[in-house]
Amino acid sequence: MRYEDFYRQSIDEPERFWAEQARLIHWDKPPQQILDQSNPPFRRWFVGGTTNLCYNAIDRHLAARAEQLALVAISSETDVTREFSYRQLYSEVNVFAAVLQSLGVDKGDRVVIYLPNIAEAVFAMLACARIGAIHSVVFGGFAAHNLALRIDDAQPKLLIAADAGMRGGKVIPYKPLVDAALTEALAPPPHVLIVDRGLDPQMTRVTDRDLDYASLRTRHEDAEVAVTWLESNEPSYLLYTSGTTGKPKGIQRDVGGYAVAMALSIRTVFDIAPGQVMFSTSDVGWAVGHSYNVYAPLIGGATSLLYEGLPTRPDPGIWWQLCERYGVHTMFSSPTAIRVLKKQDESWLRKYDLSALKWLFLAGEPLDEPTAHWITDSLGVPVIDNYWQTETGWPAITLMPGLDLKTVKFGSPGLPAPGYGMKVIDENTGAEVAAGVKGVLVFQPPLPPGCLSTVWHDDDRYVHSYFSHFKELLYSSLDWAIRDDEGYTWILGRTDDVINVAGHRLGTREIEESVATHAAVAEAAVIGMKDELKGQVPVVFATLKQGVTEDPAVVALAMRQCVTDQLGALARPARVYLVSALPKTRSGKLLRRSLQALVQGADPGDLSTLDDPAALDEIRRALEEGPEQGS
Ligand code: AMP
Repeated sequence: MRYEDFYRQSIDEPERFWAEQARLIHWDKPPQQILDQSNPPFRRWFVGGTTNLCYNAIDRHLAARAEQLALVAISSETDVTREFSYRQLYSEVNVFAAVLQSLGVDKGDRVVIYLPNIAEAVFAMLACARIGAIHSVVFGGFAAHNLALRIDDAQPKLLIAADAGMRGGKVIPYKPLVDAALTEALAPPPHVLIVDRGLDPQMTRVTDRDLDYASLRTRHEDAEVAVTWLESNEPSYLLYTSGTTGKPKGIQRDVGGYAVAMALSIRTVFDIAPGQVMFSTSDVGWAVGHSYNVYAPLIGGATSLLYEGLPTRPDPGIWWQLCERYGVHTMFSSPTAIRVLKKQDESWLRKYDLSALKWLFLAGEPLDEPTAHWITDSLGVPVIDNYWQTETGWPAITLMPGLDLKTVKFGSPGLPAPGYGMKVIDENTGAEVAAGVKGVLVFQPPLPPGCLSTVWHDDDRYVHSYFSHFKELLYSSLDWAIRDDEGYTWILGRTDDVINVAGHRLGTREIEESVATHAAVAEAAVIGMKDELKGQVPVVFATLKQGVTEDPAVVALAMRQCVTDQLGALARPARVYLVSALPKTRSGKLLRRSLQALVQGADPGDLSTLDDPAALDEIRRALEEGPEQGS
């Protein structure tokens, strides 16, 4: 079918379109109503239908593909590869589900999963889905404070963690971070289930609270756990993401709509048919990891490759070697990872037989044209840039090679995916802008299946964060965009105080709050600075309290360390500038946009509301003189 017809039908006749797509998954009871829009901006898809994500991901395939590989978990850190057929995955997930039940985890209970990219993370997620528990995976690179915030918001019955992860050959103990997070958390769960990889011999356990997964697993070997059928709109999982406040938002996903979006996108966007192999290099802690390492490939009857390690270790050919070994059909990665590989010898790309590889999808951050050209030429396969957010759960703007491939335009993720009523509108008037004019990217409700259903326990925040920006009820992506006259869209960066570091979203407010925990700091402003490799990196401008006598370079270094310890290395500021005042309006609002402009050497904009114009001059001087700390 032509893309144009498919897309038009999804917008003009959404109920007919999605009723058809709903047939891609198994329903225990079919939906009674395809779409309920009686309470906008909330919407409910496939009302009255009951289904289960785990059943669709595993059980449904047992008749036809029990011996086919479902999951291959490769670690270039521990040098271990573990392969699981659908039958073996069924068995592991059932055992895990039995362990969860034995610990009192029930339908609707939350389970926080803090694991590296290992097979147990997938087992744990699917086991939760099987029994109707709500998982919330926290990226292993997040530090204790980030974990504590998520625990307090989700109030889990159980935390599942590993003894340690590994990065670049170095063991990174997780357990001390878990202990610190549970000390900080106001609502710590009664138990921590530990997947002990034997990486950290020094790991300590808290008696009665900390339980060993391997021992419980032996107790439940051969267990089979009945699937809990859920109404389509019940929550399946939470995934926290950064916003403009210091408190992360629990993006809540449903069951039926998400399953249908996964089934549709794996086929029509990612071009994966049952039996084919998908390699997504994401971590399970991100939205891509949830959707395209776990749920979509398995719902689609494919083989999913899960990878723990760097793209350059043991050598920069490792990913292509895996593509050859497993006959990968579709690969999914990030522009940052490709920029890392671009620094290596190109011959690594020619060392392996990549004849099975048909597509490389890249997402999470803008794909710059030089990188797009380089990888397309070196790999010899089409590179599909696709735009989405944690909130959408699957691509919102993309090309759909599994349906009808349109021309690739470098620098643009392409055209709207089915169900996304996309517009680019004027920031002030809300009117649609002409082709070639910059505006805010918005989606007309109803959001398609798969997108967030609300913010966990905070419907007001859902409405306020996404639907309150314009007179008309529209979902704001909070991204600037521009469209050409063929409808292709270019993404021009965020409209809010969120930055994108190596494809990962960070709230500048979270980093500011962390910097301000240092005793010498009076106030801090964090902005994103352009970076060749990571797209953006955080930069701090801070004022110190009166009477601080410590060496400024020492304070600045300590500020960076505060962020690493509390939030994780990803958020570590690249530079710290100490100044005597931050640019503010007369009403005391921090002018981050002006700071951002100055750092980029651009015009700082309208300064008529600025309280103290000398503050900007001092910042200009500081930028010329160089940071107190950092590269
Ligand atoms: P996250 O929720 O962490 O995936 O971050 C979503 C944000 O990443 C979006 O709002 C965009 O700012 C950015 N983003 C994601 N994919 C793309 C893309 N293909 N091109 C440009 N920006 C992107």
